[in-house]
Order: sequence, then structure tokens, then C-alpha cells
Amino acid sequence: MPRTNLLGLDLAALTAYTESLGEKPFRARQLARWIHQRGAGDFDAMSDLAKSLRAKLAEHAEIRAPSVLRDTTSSDGTRKWLLDVGAGNAIETVFIPEDDRGTLCISTQAGCAVNCLFCSTGRQGFNRNLTTAEIVGQLWWAEHALRRTAGLGAEGERVISNVVLMGMGEPLQNYDAVLPALRLMLDDNAYGLSRRRVTLSTSGMVPQIDRLAGDCPVALAVSLHASNDALRDRLVPLNRKYPLAELLGACRRYLRSAPRDFITFEYVMLDGVNDSDARADELIRLVRDVPCKFNLIPFNPFPEAGLKRSSAERIRAFAQRLIDAGIVTTTRKTRGDDIDAACGQLAGEVLDRTGVSERNRGRVVPIASATH
Ligand code: SAH
Ligand code: SF4
Repeated sequence: MPRTNLLGLDLAALTAYTESLGEKPFRARQLARWIHQRGAGDFDAMSDLAKSLRAKLAEHAEIRAPSVLRDTTSSDGTRKWLLDVGAGNAIETVFIPEDDRGTLCISTQAGCAVNCLFCSTGRQGFNRNLTTAEIVGQLWWAEHALRRTAGLGAEGERVISNVVLMGMGEPLQNYDAVLPALRLMLDDNAYGLSRRRVTLSTSGMVPQIDRLAGDCPVALAVSLHASNDALRDRLVPLNRKYPLAELLGACRRYLRSAPRDFITFEYVMLDGVNDSDARADELIRLVRDVPCKFNLIPFNPFPEAGLKRSSAERIRAFAQRLIDAGIVTTTRKTRGDDIDAACGQLAGEVLDRTGVSERNRGRVVPIASATH
């Protein structure tokens, strides 16, 4: 029988698991604290568990995060791990330190099936869903690696204060593995993050947005990128299935249970594609009924994209138009540029070695005729 990877079990599952070993429920809380709070990677260290239980766990269970292929730190402090998830697949996890917080950006799939025109993850195609253990493993690994680097012990202060599911993959297309991962992030016996500090970013899976509202409402970011359906159909192909009216309806419903009273709309700034004043005005009308904030993301170019980043001036003018209409708007700082740690650039190189990017190169569609 394969060992059970405890990183993949939320508190309910861990409780069921310890009970299956003939143990009391409180053992699950003890185990979770050892694993997630103190970063224990083996059972010997768990000094307040009976020797017999430790022996049982050593025989049947493991605590195993994806192994690190590369660990790079940018000149601005951004740190990126390239992690091996088997069969030539690699994923990335990025830590972004700021004055008042430390944000970890984690991946939920190897590749992505949504295939947004401007996203290099999407262009690589879909490889597979990550397991809960692989999703939580990114947080477990990063938190404890960062503490070691900072010279903080197992009892030290937390380094990661915020988690964003904005790495590789569409989290809501891997709902069943993502949900227990979110629960562990929030659980006081594990990471104890508040719902407001965990943000799930989606390209717009309408039914799953509704499910998330009921199961585990965390902060929601929606990748909008366009102000009308014709344009969004081309940029985010999922829009053909869930058009803007339905997506915005789901956003409004989500706000009833959301931990924040606004939705964050992400909008990647593509030169000559979606960045004109006319698009800004259309956007303002579109989101009229949804309390929201905008986060403009300067496009991160990659060779096969055939797209360009909007000029800094254009981004500023576009932002100002939204601000003048009363919408709080920020522009994402490009961080970790020197280590390719920005969104949409993740794990390109390793996949190149496997030939996956090569095979998909033929899928690149020129955007020249997109609605503008
Ligand atoms: N699949 C989810 C989460 C991962 S992508 C989603 O699409 O929301 C995280 C963010 O990075 C999304 O807003 C996405 O549109 C953006 N992104 C993808 N490729 C990008 C690129 N090349 N430049 C800038 N942002 C990009
Ligand atoms: Fe997938 Fe998000 Fe990239 Fe679109 S932007 S292809 S949904 S990871």
C-alpha cells in the first residue's frame, strides 16, 4: 500500500486517518501542529506522541512536498522555487516580500487547459491537476525554508502572511484538491490565515465560484482582461462557456459570503488590444453593479506570445480613467523580473527540455485582428 501523505489531509481527513489507526481525535490536531506549524518532516521529532503511534505513522504515512529543482532569489528579494511534480512536469512557487506582508503565490495545476492567449502556462497545454499534498506542500516547504533562511526556529514568527492562488493553473478546474488545501490554510491548527489573506484567482468558472461561496469563501480575484464578450472570447476562451453577464452575476452572488466587500478584477494590459480609453469606458459601464477594485497587470511578454505590453503612459492613463470613475485601481509592480518570477512566465524552461513548449508552439494565434 502506498504511504498516506499527510500534507494532503485537512483536519477532518486527518482526524479520520488517526481514528483509522485507533487514535483519539486530538491526535490529529497535535499532528497538524507538528507538520504545518513547526515544519516537522518526519515522525521521530514528534516528542509528545507515543512511540507506538510514531512507529505506526512511520510505517504507513509520510510528509512529503514536491522536491526542489531550483531555488532562486531575485535582486528585489523575490524568491522562486521550481518544484518537480514527476513525469517531466515542473511547477513554480513564488514568495514576494513586502514591508507589511509576505505573499506566497502557489500553483494548482501543471499547465492549464484554459489556454488564455497571453499566458505562457496556458500555451504549454494541460498536464495534470496537482494533488492537495502538492498544493499544500508548496506552502509547507516555502514557510519553513524561509524561516530557516531568516534564522527563525520552528517556533519562530510566520514569514508568509498571505497566500494567492495565482501561479500555474486554474484553481477552480481542480476544485476537489484545492478545497481541502484552502481549509488547511485557514485552520488554526495549520496555517491559521484569515480568509481575507487567502486569495483565489480564477479565469471565471461560474458554477465553481458559486460552490466556493458555500464551501469556503476566501478573497476572490477574477481575471477579467476585457470589457466585452467578443474581446474576452479571444483572450480567455472560457468566456465562450461563461460569458461576462453570467460571470458578473456570479461575482455579485459571491459577495454575499465573501470575506471582503469587493471583488478584485485583474486586467492584463496588452498594447493595442484592450488598453484604449474606449475600453476603459466600456469597462466602467460593465462593472457598474459589482463592488470591485481593479488590479492592472503589465503584460509579461514571452517569445511566442506575439503580444506587447502597454506603455507605462497608457497604463497610467487607463488607470486614471477608472479612478476618475470612482473605482479603486492599482497597477501591479513587476517583481522578480530578473528570475522570471512574474505571472504567466512560470516553469517555461523545464518544460522546454521536455519538448512540451515546442509541440505547442503551433497553437499560437495572432491577435492583430482582435476587437479594439
Ligand atoms: N488561472 C487563474 C490563476 C492563475 S493566472 C487565472 O487566470 O486567474 C494568475 C494571473 O496572471 C491571471 O490574472 C492571469 O491572467 C495573469 N497572467 C497570465 N499570463 C500573464 C502574462 N503573460 N502577463 C501578465 N499577467 C499574466
Ligand atoms: Fe490558465 Fe490562468 Fe493562464 Fe488562463 S491565465 S491559461 S486560466 S493559468
